[in-house]
Amino acid sequence: MTNEHSYSGYELIEQHIRDERDPHRTPRVGITGLMVQYYHTCERELWFSSRGIDIDRDTVNIQRGTRVDETSYDDRRHSYQIDGRIAIDLLDGDDVMEVKVSSTLEEPPRMQLLYYLWYLDRIHDIQRGGVLAYPTERKREQVELTQETAERVEDTIRGITNTVEADAPPELEKKPYCDACLYQDLCWM
Ligand code: SF4
Repeated sequence: MTNEHSYSGYELIEQHIRDERDPHRTPRVGITGLMVQYYHTCERELWFSSRGIDIDRDTVNIQRGTRVDETSYDDRRHSYQIDGRIAIDLLDGDDVMEVKVSSTLEEPPRMQLLYYLWYLDRIHDIQRGGVLAYPTERKREQVELTQETAERVEDTIRGITNTVEADAPPELEKKPYCDACLYQDLCWM
């Protein structure tokens, strides 16, 4: 992948925060929770999606469990759409709760939730903890924004920006979940 506008360091993050906070400006890449999840699942998937290459998701049985909404907690579920960037399904006390069907892929939803916490903190000065919940597995994980996890979110923002601004998709690399991916025909046929 080549990108003459690749970033490193804190300049991108500082500018990104300024742009997100200013209603008259837009960041170079408006990063959503879904983009964070894509980035940590497969950067090619993120690149395809960023180019509007989409597939009718209603016709495909998505099995990875990272995008399937859980029906548990329905009575407590509200959806908070914030700035078109993040969509919080549920508040559990003071914690933001992200509900997933399966913990097969833990890192993408964990990073998505960390991005929510980072966005609330850095853009809106709202401090929250997070809970990742897998009700069908009776499993919960506490997620917190610390200096270390915030740096991982900021690395993700840099990585997403570089991936989305690249002229071509990242190199093809076989993933264990390619067979369940909506883009498998584009990648492997
Ligand atoms: S088929 Fe595999 S390589 Fe292609 S976008 Fe999907 S997960 Fe990525």
